[in-house]
Amino acid sequence: MTSLEFTVTRTENPTSPDRLKEILAAPKFGKYFTDHMVTIDWNESEGWHNAQLVPYAPIPMDPATTVFHYGQAIFEGIKAYRHSDETIKTFRPDENAERMQRSAARMAMPQLPTEDFIKALELLVDADQDWVPEYGGEASLYLRPFMISTEIGLGVSPADAYKFLVIASPVGAYFTGGIKPVSVWLSEDYVRAAPGGTGDAKFAGNYAASLLAQSQAAEKGCDQVVWLDAIEHKYIEEMGGMNLGFIYRNGDHVKLVTPELSGSLLPGITRKSLLQVARDLGYEVEERKITTTEWEEDAKSGAMTEAFACGTAAVITPVGTVKSAHGTFEVNNNEVGEITMKLRETLTGIQQGNVEDQNGWLYPL
Ligand code: PMP
Repeated sequence: MTSLEFTVTRTENPTSPDRLKEILAAPKFGKYFTDHMVTIDWNESEGWHNAQLVPYAPIPMDPATTVFHYGQAIFEGIKAYRHSDETIKTFRPDENAERMQRSAARMAMPQLPTEDFIKALELLVDADQDWVPEYGGEASLYLRPFMISTEIGLGVSPADAYKFLVIASPVGAYFTGGIKPVSVWLSEDYVRAAPGGTGDAKFAGNYAASLLAQSQAAEKGCDQVVWLDAIEHKYIEEMGGMNLGFIYRNGDHVKLVTPELSGSLLPGITRKSLLQVARDLGYEVEERKITTTEWEEDAKSGAMTEAFACGTAAVITPVGTVKSAHGTFEVNNNEVGEITMKLRETLTGIQQGNVEDQNGWLYPL
């Protein structure tokens, strides 16, 4: 049951079929947006109201709107896939809704109920279903729910008005030309999130604060930055937009180790799902603190056989090279590992409808 009534206004100028075909032939993450968007307003007297599906358009804002100054802004990311029977499914949208509620609580913002969050996704995908890339391959429609404060004024306090929106952008396969391990830079100069901070919220400011370290990683010749804990700079937390996993394989025994949810890393839905997929495949799973020294020693000794990063964008990407101010080492000779691929194929298979969804994670849109 949904508590909000949405009004629906379809665009009078939809993207032409030829142009849409062109876009879907080479979709690029976050470059092209579909014809519609959802907006829902919140204020103190009315709560959530004014829920609408409308043509995609700029939102005029007063320069004194609080989000520009004090940054109450949170977001989510979720994909919709076309299956072989032409139905469109998304993956665990309730998890995204609940994470957004937790992010909202941390940023003193109102929480949108799960049923309204999911209804917003349903309406947008229904209006823009032609934008969902065809079955086969790993292309999908990326949905971006987000919420900003909209009170006008410069007082520093939780705003008294907010806007929730959902926009959508078709996205191609993350890896074109084969899966290749990434290289990572262990960030010791910068910290992403401290205990008691905002690291476990999907808060826009976390991403702004990460960009300089990401540039440093690029200067060091690495694809991604790996964040360490803020106090001792020795426990592995996560990457800029992905969680991390480590495989310890000894004969038939496979163990997946991932950094425990410390409060300063983002609880990824891919991470949570992979822990279950690993259990379903008969692997042992362990959520615990893991140090950079262990990473290096275990990779060098061969006890750690694979390392990977995981998130909605890439699902899983192998991590092959680790660099820091103290040196460089490789995991699995910088090659793509078997268990990483098994986990990847299973999870992408579930998402695309090719592997049985035994945990009931798919949601028809
Ligand atoms: N960590 C960070 C910092 C992220 O931005 C993301 C992407 N949302 C993740 C981890 C992975 O989360 P998910 O699996 O839910 O995409």
